[in-house]
Amino acid sequence: MKLISLVIPCYNEESGVGLLYKTVLEALRPLEGKAQLEFRFVDDGSHDSTLDAIKALRVMDERVHYCSFSRNFGKEAAMLAGMESAKGDYVVVMDADLQEPPDLIPKMFDMLEEGGCDCVATCRKSRSRKGLFRNSGARLFYWLMSRMTEIELQEGARDFRMMNRAYLQSVLALKESNRFSKGIFAWVGHRVKWLTFDYEERQSGETKWSFGKLCRYALEGITSFSTVPLTASFGLGVATCLFAAVMCIKTIIKTLFFHEPVPGYTTIFVCLTFFSGLQFIMLGVMGLYISKIYKEVKRRPPYVIQEEN
Ligand code: UDP
Ligand code: MG
Repeated sequence: MKLISLVIPCYNEESGVGLLYKTVLEALRPLEGKAQLEFRFVDDGSHDSTLDAIKALRVMDERVHYCSFSRNFGKEAAMLAGMESAKGDYVVVMDADLQEPPDLIPKMFDMLEEGGCDCVATCRKSRSRKGLFRNSGARLFYWLMSRMTEIELQEGARDFRMMNRAYLQSVLALKESNRFSKGIFAWVGHRVKWLTFDYEERQSGETKWSFGKLCRYALEGITSFSTVPLTASFGLGVATCLFAAVMCIKTIIKTLFFHEPVPGYTTIFVCLTFFSGLQFIMLGVMGLYISKIYKEVKRRPPYVIQEEN
């Protein structure tokens, strides 16, 4: 019999954990006799009683395993910890907030059992009502990623997926500490099949994604998988020099042949501020990459465990 591990990162999900547990058991009833189940809850340094809720489940059910971080390390780290500890032949990553339907799990299981793929991933059909600003931001992000990187991100792809051991090994083989899972899942390749589902509104609690956090996440994704911004600064520099050369020739001709007095202040002021702004932007881009190198070379562990069963 196959063992399925459910990896569930939880951050302040005290109201969601119990409901999730019940719903998952209900949804996985069709797999009785075909597969066994284990839960791998990762408490990502929650400030509420998420850990107590998980422990209460553990008392009732031996299949519930958990670990708790010493502070909030982020979903990426929590997913990594769960995937590293998972013992299953098949490993599912899913959110604790039931926005992703667990009823898809039996279907994923059957698809993996049939063979012909190493991972069944999901992507949502409808964009949630996040507002025009966020939606166009997301669209811009996917467009930039497809232009700037070798990997192809599926728009609307979720982390919710079931993978076999081969796929999981490949994901865990990427040891970088700046983990951008959407990119990592796409980067490892393998044979992936997609399921689409209708996106549910959150059942309880609230989302941890502010607009600022989303922007940082997008930057993280681009700088993790592309060096185009670095090389783009080279192109921009060349273009700026060409522009300056043209302006220079134009000014010389005007003064020498037409004896026009050089109209000064405004042009110089605008050019100076514009180009020094440009230089700062480019320095910032370099800074982004240097800060990444800095984080990587320190080789800090991606998370610290406070408690586990
Ligand atoms: N999460 C986490 N650490 C964090 C933020 C979120 O482990 O710092 C978990 C959270 O508990 C949930 C999942 O990651 O199970 C997705 O979070 P959320 O629902 O806020 O994101 P969204 O569904 O909006 O992408
Ligand atoms: Mg969610």
